[in-house]
Amino acid sequence: MKTSEQRIQIALQKSGRLTDHSLDLLAKCGLKFTKSKDQLFCFGENMPIDLLLVRDDDIPALVGDDVCDLGIAGLNVIEEKRLDRHGNDASAQFDQVFALDFGHCRLAIAAPEDAPYDGPMSLQGARIATSYPATLNKFLTQHEVDASVVIFSGAIEIMPRLGKADFICDLVSTGSTLAANQLREVQTVLESEAVIIQTRAPLPVEKQDWINRLLQRLDGVLQVRESKYVMLHAPRSALEQIVALLPGSESPTVVPLEGAGDKVAVHAVCREYVFWETLENLKSAGASSLLVLPLEKMMV
Ligand code: ATP
Ligand code: ZN
Repeated sequence: MKTSEQRIQIALQKSGRLTDHSLDLLAKCGLKFTKSKDQLFCFGENMPIDLLLVRDDDIPALVGDDVCDLGIAGLNVIEEKRLDRHGNDASAQFDQVFALDFGHCRLAIAAPEDAPYDGPMSLQGARIATSYPATLNKFLTQHEVDASVVIFSGAIEIMPRLGKADFICDLVSTGSTLAANQLREVQTVLESEAVIIQTRAPLPVEKQDWINRLLQRLDGVLQVRESKYVMLHAPRSALEQIVALLPGSESPTVVPLEGAGDKVAVHAVCREYVFWETLENLKSAGASSLLVLPLEKMMV
């Protein structure tokens, strides 16, 4: 049992693509923190939660070895480290709690623009450069492909041009880096986004209670991301059609409007993006006085 009393330690990326989003998400959960002088820690001021700022590659081991209770990293890193340490054994020492809807990218195989690709069998006998050997090997085994995996970290996209590899397997989001290197994406190996993981080590009740509270708040923040609160007026006769047009809403609140005949006010939480087209369709169906408001927090 580690000595660091009852405070929750969360491992986050120190400086990179996930850092701002991770800190922003925790701030939205109500956490206020101050950074240590060496920029390695953030001390939670209003909750017993501290942040440890590290390289993203270290996060799975920090949580797996029970140094930190929680960690936020890309699924690509988490899966690679899990496979590297435990093979396909599902008993890795952390639980993936949930996906956080940022840091979207994919681990993908790319080929030189003129090279043919007709599915995984095209990789048979090829040299594939990657810094994700464990994830790539799992993919190759699943597809019964015998290829040689060239482990390389750094600018992998130059490997085919240098004659060191036939394909590469790397992270892609927009594909612009690939295009700039005359490569084209041919095969997705893993869809990734940032996820939060928790140690499997049993925790004191009070600590686990705080973690549950934090996770519930995180869930609340994620739920309202795309959600909007829509208010409108409508004739009762058009209600059925209007409710059907509201995106991702379950049962709206319908309130009579004082002195307005058969008109009612409809209030609904829409869990999907509300487009201008949706509002135009609602108006055509008889709705008026439409308001779309942002939601800040939600607890269901
Ligand atoms: P560190 O110094 O922490 O090791 P890094 O260079 O490995 O940083 P970043 O480039 O900041 O990491 O990427 C962190 C994570 O962001 C990736 O592991 C991945 O999950 C996600 N990500 C999202 N889009 C991309 C992309 N286009 N390229 C690389 N990573 C991406
Ligand atoms: Zn890294």
